[in-house]
Amino acid sequence: MLVFKALEKLKAHLNSKSFKIGLVPTMGGLHQGHLSLIKKACLDNQIVVVSIYVNPTQFNDKNDLKNYPFDLKKDKAFLSSFSKNVVVYNPDNDEMYPSGIKKNSYNFGSISHHMEGKFRPGHFNGVATVIEKLIKDIKPHNAYFGEKDYQQIQIIKALNKSLELGVKIISCSTEREKDGLAISTRNKFLNPRQRSAAIKIHFALQELKLKKGAKKFFDMKRFFINTVEHSKDLKVEYFCIASIDDLVPVEIFEKFKKYRIFVAVFAGNIRLIDNEEINIFN
Ligand code: AMP
Repeated sequence: MLVFKALEKLKAHLNSKSFKIGLVPTMGGLHQGHLSLIKKACLDNQIVVVSIYVNPTQFNDKNDLKNYPFDLKKDKAFLSSFSKNVVVYNPDNDEMYPSGIKKNSYNFGSISHHMEGKFRPGHFNGVATVIEKLIKDIKPHNAYFGEKDYQQIQIIKALNKSLELGVKIISCSTEREKDGLAISTRNKFLNPRQRSAAIKIHFALQELKLKKGAKKFFDMKRFFINTVEHSKDLKVEYFCIASIDDLVPVEIFEKFKKYRIFVAVFAGNIRLIDNEEINIFN
C-alpha cells in the first residue's frame, strides 16, 4: 500500500500515467461505510486516492478532536486488499494548512443553516476548506461521499458548483450494521448499553418511513423522541424534516416536494447522526 505524506510526491505518482482518478476523503478509523465508497470508486476509476486527514477545523468540540481515533497502521491493513488501485494520502497539518490552521468562510445559503450547520457552528466551513484543497491538489475526476452525511454532500456539491472545481460528486448510500445502526467511526466508543439502545434510531426512522397515510410533523417528532428516549441512555438533539431542495426544516408539507428526516442523538458524549428519505403523503 503506497502512502503519501507529501503532496508533491502524490502528484508525481498520479501524473506519471494518465489515470482516471477517484478521491475518497476520510478522517481515517476506516470501516465498512468507507469501504463501500472505496469499492465504488475502484469500479469507476483506475486509481483511487483515499485521503486520511483528521481536519481540526471541522471539529467544534475540542474533546471530540482530541479523542478522534487515528491509527494509520490499522487503516493501511484495512485497505491492503486494494493495494493495486488504492493509494493513501495522509498529509500533516502543514501540508493542508501551509499558512496556519484556519478555515475559509463560505456562503452556502440555506443548505448550511440548519441541522449540522446549526448544531455544529463552523463545521461546514471547516469541511469545505479541506475538500476544496484536496480537490484542487489532487484534481480527481470523481469524488465519493456518504449519504450518512447527507447535508455535507449538498454542501460539497454547492462548493463544486460555485468554485467550478469540475469534479463529479458521487453520493453513496449509508452502510449499516446488521441491526440497522449507521456505521460510524464513533460507534466503537459506545458502551454495550448505549450500543444496544442506539438501534432505536434507525428503527424509529424506518417505522416513520413505512407508516401509511399522510403524516403530521409533530406526531412524527413525538414518536421519534419517545421511541429513542425510551432508553435513558439516549437524548435526541434534533429531529428535523427538510425539503431536499433547500434543507430548510418545515412542519407543514407540500405535495410534490421531496423530504428527508434528519436526526442527531447523544449517547452520553457520543453524537450519532442519521437521515432517511420519507414520503409524507403515502
Ligand atoms: P469520515 O471519515 O467520517 O469523515 O467519513 C468519510 C466519508 O465516509 C464521508 O463521505 C462519509 O459520509 C462517509 N461515510 C461515513 N460513514 C458512512 C456509512 N456508514 N455509510 C456510507 N458512507 C459513510
